Amino acid sequence: MLKRSEVKLEETWDLTDLFENEQQFEEALQEVSEEATAIEAKFKGKITNSTVAVEVITLYKNLSEKLVPIGNYSQLSLSVDQTNDTAQMRAAKVGQLYSKISAQLSFITSELLQLDEETLTETKNKSQDFSHYIDKLIRKKPYQLHPEVEKTLAAFGSIFEAPYELYNTTKLVDMKFENFEVNGKSYPLSYNSFEGDWELETDTDIRRAAFTAFSNKLRDYQHTTAKTYDTHLKIEKTESDLRGFNSIFDSLLFDQQVDKELYDRQIDLITSELAPIMRKYAKLLQKSHGLEKMTFADLKIPLDPSYEPKISIEESRQYMKDGLSVLGKDYQAMLDRAFDERWIDFAQNIGKSTGAFCSSPYGYHPYVLISWTSRMNEVFVLAHELGHAGHFYLANAEQNIFNARPSLYFIEAPSTMNEMLMANHLLSNSNDARFKRWVISTIIARTYYHNFVTHLLEAAYQRKVYEIINDGGSVNASILNKLKRDVLVDFWGDAVEITEGAELTWMRQPHYYMGLYPYTYSAGLTIATEVSQRILKEGTPAVNDWINVLKAGGTKTPVELAQMAGVDVTTDQPLRSTIQFISSLVDQLEELTTQLEN
Ligand SMILES: [Zn+2]
Repeated sequence: MLKRSEVKLEETWDLTDLFENEQQFEEALQEVSEEATAIEAKFKGKITNSTVAVEVITLYKNLSEKLVPIGNYSQLSLSVDQTNDTAQMRAAKVGQLYSKISAQLSFITSELLQLDEETLTETKNKSQDFSHYIDKLIRKKPYQLHPEVEKTLAAFGSIFEAPYELYNTTKLVDMKFENFEVNGKSYPLSYNSFEGDWELETDTDIRRAAFTAFSNKLRDYQHTTAKTYDTHLKIEKTESDLRGFNSIFDSLLFDQQVDKELYDRQIDLITSELAPIMRKYAKLLQKSHGLEKMTFADLKIPLDPSYEPKISIEESRQYMKDGLSVLGKDYQAMLDRAFDERWIDFAQNIGKSTGAFCSSPYGYHPYVLISWTSRMNEVFVLAHELGHAGHFYLANAEQNIFNARPSLYFIEAPSTMNEMLMANHLLSNSNDARFKRWVISTIIARTYYHNFVTHLLEAAYQRKVYEIINDGGSVNASILNKLKRDVLVDFWGDAVEITEGAELTWMRQPHYYMGLYPYTYSAGLTIATEVSQRILKEGTPAVNDWINVLKAGGTKTPVELAQMAGVDVTTDQPLRSTIQFISSLVDQLEELTTQLEN
């Protein structure tokens, strides 16, 4: 594995679009710090009428925009190399600055919410731009605390983020994997190589040995990681109680603008109805690989390993453009920019964050992080991340900074939508049974497995954790291990042996530090599945609806956004129909496999 300093420049993203150099960055820090102090000095205790309200919100909006590149620059530079001392210190400094500014300016929300309804309506009328922002504030009113308490909480902001940072430090800086041995041969192991390569390795001895070595190292850190996580949960619980929410679920779903019913339905229906379909898929994998038994360590293997085309970064560009061409010329132009202007960090190096993500700083272009393995299925990973990029590229351009970001419930819809479009494109351009089987098995093994199985089982486990916390309890490593194991056993039944080490899977997911995030993957993909089917049937009108949904950003609730695209998520119909669709894909895989075997 290369060091960050050794990777090729053209495989890295270009952060100079945020700041050309460190000096410019430092000057920006100075500037926002002074601006925040000036706003506090001028307006604190003085937001008493709509004219002043508009004035202060305008300044706050401008300052928020200036904070965007600062936060992104520090986070993105750290994400490509968590072992980088300078990046660590820079991020810590920015975290403190953010807390300081949030504390200084917490009076704005507090004082706006002390205005009577009439004055707030006047403020909205004077500046239509802020009407959505004010509506969102009013919604928060019942849970708002005394101004001095809000200020104190804001001042502790970066401290409350500590568990997540500790989690990352344990995982990406401290945890060092030794080589593992199989039949006298030694193989290198790291977090990224395990999740990107060894889990998919087709040699069963090597794959299972890698799983054991990986799990053993996780186990060394289980108590620290559990304690860190428990601290995070306590922070969420304390805040929920202080603000007077009925339960921690209500508190966490509040910003998502989602009822608990929608949340529970997603978890309950999938765990019961999708399980038999996925067990059938596991059996198919077992049969085609001639495995005596199917274990948890075998679930990520491709159905047809001798048919995993390799793909270069340059080739991926054409795949993106062809696969997503249905989204139109403007979208294509954005994809070109993503490659030409180095929005994407492809390199594999020590200390890089695992998985892939997209960050879309308001007022700038999106950034995508991925660790390119050259496996063809990276086409789907890239299409996914570019789906986030396309979403915020449009939403950021159409909406002001307060209105651009939609509910978390909807976040994974545009990304998984692109995976579906990519699959549809690949399927329609080939009559080769083997290629078709590869595409369908990739959608199952990646798109649906990832969003409807991995993340959903995380959500089912997470719900159990929050039930304990909600009742005033605590968690430790043995409780978390048991909860995780139970969820896996329930889902896979006797189709898959839940190998020793599988119970530690909860240690692998940073999403647990982001509230009720895991379940939203399946919610987003439910919407994406339904809309991608609409696009196949109706073409342009469905595409236009979708582009308008993306542009709407956060101006609508997730239920309304889905409605705009023709999907009614207040009923269980879309989810049932998606599960039906997955079932039909597994059936097709079985048929194609039989056909190919003959
Ligand atoms: Zn995503």
